[in-house]
Amino acid sequence: MTTKPIIPLVPESPVPAAVSPRRLPPNGKKFFIWTMGCQMNEADSQKVAAMLQEVGYEKATSEEDADIVVLNSCVVRQAAEDKVAGRLDSLARLKRQKPEMPLVLTGCMVTRQQEKLKQRFPHVDLFFNPSDFGKLVEVVPELEELDDDLDQLPHYYQPQLTGNKAGISAFVPIIYGCNFVCSYCIVPYRRGKETSRPFKDIVTEVERLVDNGVREVTLLGQTVNAYGHDLEEKTSLAHLMEAVNNVKGLDRLRFLTSHPKYMGDDIIHAIRDLDTACEHMNLPVQAGDNEVLRRMRRTYTRDLWMERIAYTREQIPGVTVATDIIVGFPGETDEQFQQTYDMLEQTECDKVHLAMYSPRPGTLSARWEDDIPHEEKYRRHRELEKLQERLQTEINDRRLGDTYEVLVESKQRGRWTGRTRGNTLVHFDDERDLTGKLVDVEITKTSPWFLMGRAVGNPS
Ligand code: SAM
Ligand code: SF4
Repeated sequence: MTTKPIIPLVPESPVPAAVSPRRLPPNGKKFFIWTMGCQMNEADSQKVAAMLQEVGYEKATSEEDADIVVLNSCVVRQAAEDKVAGRLDSLARLKRQKPEMPLVLTGCMVTRQQEKLKQRFPHVDLFFNPSDFGKLVEVVPELEELDDDLDQLPHYYQPQLTGNKAGISAFVPIIYGCNFVCSYCIVPYRRGKETSRPFKDIVTEVERLVDNGVREVTLLGQTVNAYGHDLEEKTSLAHLMEAVNNVKGLDRLRFLTSHPKYMGDDIIHAIRDLDTACEHMNLPVQAGDNEVLRRMRRTYTRDLWMERIAYTREQIPGVTVATDIIVGFPGETDEQFQQTYDMLEQTECDKVHLAMYSPRPGTLSARWEDDIPHEEKYRRHRELEKLQERLQTEINDRRLGDTYEVLVESKQRGRWTGRTRGNTLVHFDDERDLTGKLVDVEITKTSPWFLMGRAVGNPS
C-alpha cells in the first residue's frame, strides 16, 4: 500500500466493518459503468470502479450525470453484442453534448477488433481489452497514482458508493482466459489462454476484502477449477480454497465456473470439509447427448457429468447443483434434444441457465449450417423451462418448514433479500436493518424461483 495522504470517508449507511480510505480526496467528478455479460465482467467493472474511487471519483446515477462513462461488453451471444452496439449508438448524442466526457469501451467486444470498432463508433475515446486496466490512465491521468499497486487493488466498490450487495459479497478473479476450444464459444478468442493469478495475490485480496466488511467471496474463472496448473509453483483450486478458508472473518466461499473435466475429488472434498465453502456446485454440461457433446468439443461424456454430480451429492448431502444448457446446436435432432431433457429430468438440478444456440463468427461451429430454425430453438428452450419450473417447484416445496442461514444482501420493494449457502434466493419481512447480516430464516412459502420466510433467532 502507498504512504500517500489518506482521506477517511464517512459512511452513508450501515457498513459492516472498517472501510479503506481513498488515495485522493473527492474531486467532484462522477463515473458511470454499464456492464453486460458474465461475473468476470462484473468483477472487471468493480475493479474499474475501485480504481476511479481511489482517485476521488463518486458513482453517478446515470450517464447524463457522469464525467466518464465505461461500457463493459459481452459477445457470447449475438443478442448481447447487439445490445452493446445499440447502447453505444445511443450514447453518440450525449457525447456530442459533452465532448469532454471520456467514453470507454472494454470487455470481450474489444479484443482484436479495435480498428473495426474505431470506424464503427468514432465517438468512443478509449478501447481496452478485458482486464487491461492500466490503459485507463490515457483518459484519467490521476490513475498514475496507483502505479504498481494496481494488481493488488481489490475488485471491489467501497460500500458507501453502491449500497445493496456491494460491501457484502465480492467476486475475485483467480484465472483468466480458457484453454478449451468448445466449437461454439468465442471466449478463448477474446480472453486468451489460461493465466492463473499468483496464489498470494488472491489471498491478500481476500484479506483486504474481509477487512473492509465483505463476508462472501466468489472465486472466478471461465474454467475456475483449472486454477494453478500454469503457475511456476503448481497448485490447485482445492489448495487455494483451503488458504482462503483460513482468512479470519470470511463467512462464505464460492467458485464459478467449473469445467466437468477438471472437477476432481479434491475440490468436492474441499466443499465438504471447509467451513466457509458453500454447499453448491455450478457445473455446466451444455447438452445431454454424447454426439452433440463431441461436436461441441466439450471433451467429456454425459456419464462423466452425471457421475460427478452423483459423487458430489453422495459426499455433501443437501448440496445444490446448477448447470448450463445450449439448445438448438447445429444438427441437434429431436432425439438428441430428448437426451438432454431426460438427463435434466433425471438429475433434478436446482437451477439451469438455458441458452438458444447463437453462431459466433470466428468459431468452428459458425462454419456449420445453423440449421435449427429459431421457432424450434425457442420450442426446445420453452420445453426445458417448463421442465425446470416443475422440478424446481418440487425441490422448493420440500424446503417448506426448513430453516436456512441467509446472507442478507439488500432490501427490495420493502422486503429483505438474500441467499442460502446453496445459493437459493430468499425473501422475508423484518423491521430491523439486516443489511449484510447472517439471519436464520424459516421457510413459510415456496415458489419455483425463490423462497419466502420469517427470521428466527438472532442475526449475526
Ligand atoms: N466456461 C463455462 C463452461 O465451460 O461451460 C461457461 C462460459 S460461457 C462464457 C457461459 C455460457 O454461455 C455457456 O455455459 C453457454 O451455455 C453459453 N454460450 C456460450 N457460447 C454460446 C453460443 N454460441 N450460443 C449460445 N450460448 C452460448
Ligand atoms: Fe467457452 Fe468452453 Fe472455455 Fe467455457 S470451456 S469458456 S464454453 S471455450
